[in-house]
Amino acid sequence: MSIICPRCGKNSNEKEFIDAFCVDCYPLDVKMPKELVFDVCKRCERIKHGKKWIDRDEEEIAGDITRKCKGDFFNATYNKEENIVTFFIKKGETILKINKTINVNFLVNMCTDCSRMSGGYYESIIQLRGNPRTIDSFAKKVQRELAKVTFVSKVEEKKEGIDLYIGSTQAVLALIKEIGHKYIITKKLAGVDKEGRRQYRTSFSIRFE
Ligand SMILES: [Zn+2]
Ligand SMILES: [Zn+2]
Repeated sequence: MSIICPRCGKNSNEKEFIDAFCVDCYPLDVKMPKELVFDVCKRCERIKHGKKWIDRDEEEIAGDITRKCKGDFFNATYNKEENIVTFFIKKGETILKINKTINVNFLVNMCTDCSRMSGGYYESIIQLRGNPRTIDSFAKKVQRELAKVTFVSKVEEKKEGIDLYIGSTQAVLALIKEIGHKYIITKKLAGVDKEGRRQYRTSFSIRFE
């Protein structure tokens, strides 16, 4: 005996059925957002979360998506290739898997750090002077450490040493304090930003014997 789905008219011979409905039309008590939009930075691939840009792997993104769905299911997974959320529902002893298409959009964008970096923006210059060998290895170390928290927009090799142009003064201060080397700091007014705040460029001069 076959049954007909009252919603779409499909026959139970051609489609899987749950109770009186085919699996596509089964009245599922689930609320899904109409559309989800993620801003993705095309350079560093971080994702915008509120006002911050953060690292997010595929599994975490799937979690962000399924958490936005509410309803009568005990688990949900997200398939990025097909843009489908699979809901796992317990009905008596059986577990049902129901797929629903979700509208998720990944917008290619550029995060604040990357757009500043590509525009050559910097807040600080670290000027390394003195012994060329020490300078060289110190410059590498500084670049490696600062890349974790900010960006290095330019490295300038001069005959008197190396200048590093850095995205965040705070990050430089924190690193220099941690290293514990003596430095001379100078601040210059660089202009005023859109909100009328004074912008400073800070130079850190470090000398190696
Ligand atoms: Zn149906
Ligand atoms: Zn970025």
